[in-house]
Amino acid sequence: MKPKIYITRKLPELVVDKLKNAFEVRMWEEEVEPVPREILEKEIQEVEGLYCLLTESIDRNLLTLAPRLKIVSNMAVGYNNIDVAAATEKGIMVTNTPGVLTETTADLTFALLMASARRIVEASDYLRAGSWKTWSPMQLTGQDIYGATLGIFGLGRIGESLAKRARGFDMNILYHNRSRKPRAEEQLGIKYVDKEALLRESDFVCVLTPYTPETENYIGTAELSLMKRNAVLINTARGGIVNEEALYHALKSGQIWGAGLDVFKEEPVRTDHPLLSLPNVVALPHIGSASRNTRLKMALLAAENLIQGLLGETPKNLVN
Ligand code: NAP
Repeated sequence: MKPKIYITRKLPELVVDKLKNAFEVRMWEEEVEPVPREILEKEIQEVEGLYCLLTESIDRNLLTLAPRLKIVSNMAVGYNNIDVAAATEKGIMVTNTPGVLTETTADLTFALLMASARRIVEASDYLRAGSWKTWSPMQLTGQDIYGATLGIFGLGRIGESLAKRARGFDMNILYHNRSRKPRAEEQLGIKYVDKEALLRESDFVCVLTPYTPETENYIGTAELSLMKRNAVLINTARGGIVNEEALYHALKSGQIWGAGLDVFKEEPVRTDHPLLSLPNVVALPHIGSASRNTRLKMALLAAENLIQGLLGETPKNLVN
């Protein structure tokens, strides 16, 4: 008998077919609506494998309901939605999809940086609203990207790819990790600095660390107060890394100049969220990895991890 798996969202047919070859598959057939918790709680009781997205909280309580579960395959590189410690205690494998989304997410991060610096969304809205009456010297002026200083928190796969793009704009690049990366420093001509120096010296601060207890509220009031008044904060990692209330006050008071956000503490973000009332915020609905090719690669990689795990091999992207 084939092992049973549950898929928490409608996937491309190609991926479902691949999984059906190996498993008895049940799937939440909706594309837009996430699976309700009570359905997930019921489905997980029967299965050996779970294929999930970052929209599902795979917490200790849920795992307790799953006596047969051997593997949770997340279709994302970040896995802060999964209680990995609880899974490990129960002998459940957890996998993610690193690498295949690196370049696409770096593209989006740089796009958000450019859109924020040059007020692209605001300017487009201005034109559509009929406010464009004339060309004038200081109208809709933004910040220069070329030659500016970029500070990257979390110079990992995506951070390095972002640095490559920034080099093309002759940016001066700083980074801060818990550990130094001499190879990247040499190859990319980037400089390691402490957290404070990065905040003080950068015109653009990009957050690309994983979301962990250590990085929760990593950027708060104290950090924002060190940043330049012309600085732009970009977050394409996870919402909880930046304290949203502190960011709102920093933007509103002119402590920093602007922000580009692809991620929020609560997703989907409420449309009456204070940050969305500010013209100097460019906000996106978590689309960092959203190119057609990359999403297909992520979906296939998550399927491969699940297949390897349930067929007795070590999955390629095991995180525990
Ligand atoms: P990665 O290769 O693991 O890089 C993460 C980097 O963060 C590492 O270099 C790590 O270096 C550094 N780091 C970890 N903890 C830190 C801390 N406390 N302080 C400073 N630096 C720290 O991961 P990645 O593939 O580049 O992805 C990064 C994150 O982006 C993911 O975890 C995910 O949440 C997010 N993401 C978002 C989207 C989106 O759609 N918006 C798409 C893809 C990924 P050290 O270990 O030396 O500190």
